[in-house]
Amino acid sequence: MTTETRLRIAMQKSGRLSDDTQSLLKRCGLKLNVTDRRLLAHVSNMPVDIMRVRSSDIPGLVMDGVCDLGIVGDNTLEEAALERQLMSSKAEYIKTSPLNFGGCRLSIAMPEEFDYRGVDSLNGLRFATTYPQLLKRFAAENGINVDFCMLNGSVEVAPRVGLADGICDLVSTGSTLEANGLKEVEIIFRSTASLIQTVEQLSPEKQTILDTLLPRIQGVMKAKE
Ligand code: ATP
Repeated sequence: MTTETRLRIAMQKSGRLSDDTQSLLKRCGLKLNVTDRRLLAHVSNMPVDIMRVRSSDIPGLVMDGVCDLGIVGDNTLEEAALERQLMSSKAEYIKTSPLNFGGCRLSIAMPEEFDYRGVDSLNGLRFATTYPQLLKRFAAENGINVDFCMLNGSVEVAPRVGLADGICDLVSTGSTLEANGLKEVEIIFRSTASLIQTVEQLSPEKQTILDTLLPRIQGVMKAKE
């Protein structure tokens, strides 16, 4: 059982999910000072602490029980869970609530001139990606072999500079792909942000805070529909 009395929530420090996450927490009535440069920010009107970190650190913090809750994209979550299963690290979490922001898809995209004739035409090719585990799972499910190189940003440039044949990257509108001479050929994972929870039992104090917070989060989500 986690013993401290303040509920600890991990959120993205800065990036595509941070504004929506911040506004969700504020609309739930949490007073947080976001100009605060501290990575662990106290909420002044509730026993809650907000830990502001990189997205990719959130799944591990929740799976290891360092944070009680986290708000993170399903793509990041699933990639981390697969990676941790491979390393025999703790990979469990509770998906407390899907959230209606951060919508995107993880797709395979190829240069416009590539002659795409179904998944088999990707066999033996090399892809630049930040999501090797999701790519490997897609390849295994479709009976093809793929190679990958890891890139944490500017993935779209990889085919043009000869680093990879194609890419496996997040897409929302498709305009970045188009601007880089790429076409989307397969969607391999659909994602939104989610609220996740540690599998460790919460202390009674923390559980009480969560019981107050969760209906508010669901109320805010409903109001946005
Ligand atoms: P961090 O920089 O915090 O380690 P990150 O590189 O994933 O993480 P962002 O680019 O801000 O940071 O993306 C955060 C999340 O936003 C993604 O993991 C995804 O769930 C969501 N997202 C929604 N649309 C897109 C998109 N078009 N491209 C990338 N991410 C998107």
